[in-house]
Amino acid sequence: MKKVNEIFYSIQGEGYYTGTPAVFVRFSGCNLKCPFCDTQHEDGILMSDEEILSEVGKYPAVMVILTGGEPSLWIDREFVDRLHRIGKYVCIETNGTRSLPNNIDWVTCSPKEGSNAIVVNPHEIKVVYTGQDLSTYEEMTAAVYYLQPCSCQNTEEVIDYIKKHPKWKLSLQTQKILNVR
Ligand code: SF4
Repeated sequence: MKKVNEIFYSIQGEGYYTGTPAVFVRFSGCNLKCPFCDTQHEDGILMSDEEILSEVGKYPAVMVILTGGEPSLWIDREFVDRLHRIGKYVCIETNGTRSLPNNIDWVTCSPKEGSNAIVVNPHEIKVVYTGQDLSTYEEMTAAVYYLQPCSCQNTEEVIDYIKKHPKWKLSLQTQKILNVR
């Protein structure tokens, strides 16, 4: 059984796949306790893999985004394979502090200050910018690097940083701007 906070259908609002319709599976709980965490993930119900797959299968989107909390607390290779078998493209949003099954299609790592990211070669690094030193993240190997304003508050500061450090691209929380889930 896996503890699931919510399963919902929306568009990806952030990062590389912005605008893509996707089924979000938000798992409950996290191994970190970031003071700025604004995700309500602690509540949840225990669901079997079959129940999760059945819920995910109700929606036409190919993309499934495993998020949390920290989804790596709950998922394994077999679960990802089962999603593949129903035709899904499996993405994960992780804080990068735990190892992942190697059959996930797209790994977005959002490393957090003060924690040690061990995920190697994520497809995407996505960092919420609060003025912190980004050099550690810039040394990580990824296909794309996204820097995101904090709750849409410091967009100009982020754009200024990106213009000086063009390895990064701007990620906006378009779901908040558009007021969609
Ligand atoms: S890693 Fe993410 S979900 Fe976990 S406590 Fe930090 S901000 Fe919240």
